[in-house]
Amino acid sequence: MSRRAALRALAALAGVLLLGAAAAQTPQDDRVVFPAGVQQGALVIGKVPPGSRVEYAGRTLRVTGYGSVALGIGRDAQGPAQVKVTRPDGREETVAIRIDPRDWPLQRVDGVPPATVDPPPAIAERIRREQAQVSAQRSRDDDRADFAQRFVQPVEGRISGRFGRARVYNGRPGSPHSGMDIAAPTGTAVRAPAGGIVTFAAPDLYLTGGTVLLDHGHGISSNFLHLSRLDVRVGDRVEQGQVIGAVGATGRATGPHLHWGMNWFDVRIDPQLVLERAP
Ligand SMILES: [Zn+2]
Repeated sequence: MSRRAALRALAALAGVLLLGAAAAQTPQDDRVVFPAGVQQGALVIGKVPPGSRVEYAGRTLRVTGYGSVALGIGRDAQGPAQVKVTRPDGREETVAIRIDPRDWPLQRVDGVPPATVDPPPAIAERIRREQAQVSAQRSRDDDRADFAQRFVQPVEGRISGRFGRARVYNGRPGSPHSGMDIAAPTGTAVRAPAGGIVTFAAPDLYLTGGTVLLDHGHGISSNFLHLSRLDVRVGDRVEQGQVIGAVGATGRATGPHLHWGMNWFDVRIDPQLVLERAP
């Protein structure tokens, strides 16, 4: 094939690819698509006709220009999840999503510093204050669709703690585990699992140590705890794979690991399910 013919063939192929992309993105799809069933702790991404109004759990969900919406199913949520969709032409439809229950084995965590399990009043007050600062950032509903990316694990390593397990610290019942723990040596780079905006960054919170919050838009956020080093500041735009800090054992931790938690607003969701979600 001559050089010119090869270029023509390439141009034709590029045209076909562009056409394909345009067809996939044409917002003329009139269907409402949600998964039929999900597990407790799931991130649900649905598709509605662009311009629809979507309501779930007392919230009106943000809808992207392509009609994507996101919502989170809590650890203890009972199904079905009812999502009400009002199309631009006024037609209404309620989608019922089955919620499959999971069991949550008990996990004993021993050797935790006693003051982090049963803090004195002044410390308890500090913990409340710090948690309120973090929670405030989770009420954001940013108009970005970073949540729709295919998430990647922020650090390689053994999974040393799973989402949702009931936890007993030094023999005392605590709250269920709110994320996934990945064991890795102190100093290992922690990478953004998806793009986002840094909405909180503090080097030394009492329970969570070095703490970073990354907002992925539409109420979906990640938190990274026990960091030994922070490489980002509040307001930074971070792309998937970018280093945001380093693994550590700061705060209430028995050894170096990354705790990666995810939320839909104040609802905790399971990062493992987000990783496993089909694109
Ligand atoms: Zn953890």
